[in-house]
Amino acid sequence: MDRSPSRPKLLLHACCGVCSAYVPEILRDEYDVTIYYDNPNIFPQEEFDRRAEAARVMAEKYGLPFILVPQGTIDWYRAVRGHAKARENGERCRKCITHRLDAAFRYAKTHHFDIVATTVSVSRRKNIEQVHAAGRALASVHGIPFLDRDWRKGGGERESQRRAKEAGIYRQEYCGCVYSLVKMKARVKSRVTS
Ligand code: SF4
Repeated sequence: MDRSPSRPKLLLHACCGVCSAYVPEILRDEYDVTIYYDNPNIFPQEEFDRRAEAARVMAEKYGLPFILVPQGTIDWYRAVRGHAKARENGERCRKCITHRLDAAFRYAKTHHFDIVATTVSVSRRKNIEQVHAAGRALASVHGIPFLDRDWRKGGGERESQRRAKEAGIYRQEYCGCVYSLVKMKARVKSRVTS
């Protein structure tokens, strides 16, 4: 796809291949989209690599630039410190999303993007208001608009899953961090033993 100087440059934070399978498609007519993979929350490293590769494959499929920020967990653990036991979509998730989006906004500012968005909220497991509130707050801090659209409208999540399956890319079974991995394992175990 042509990179048009007339369309705004959008930095699209993405956390996996599944969420990169649909959202870029609906944005690329309107914006010059760049996919930005910066997810220090993802544990372990192999999982980070598998999701990054899946997101890269989708970016290539759509002919979009792909930026991979190498894993660097220390600041993320610092950001969520004290909230290890918080429920999903609680305070730990708020801090996690804010931390990752803040990095995206900083990158966008340094590299002269016009607008920032994230695919994270395409999943029904995420609290869309929490994600959008974090984006809006960071937009006013960094002076770059945040695109707070609802990607789930019209079956967006189902479509993401369908396209990811069709593309044969890796599809994860937990949100990303070590805490969500432990929870997922406990869920599987209780299903097996009940
Ligand atoms: S559950 Fe997901 S959003 Fe919440 S802290 Fe873990 S990785 Fe981040």
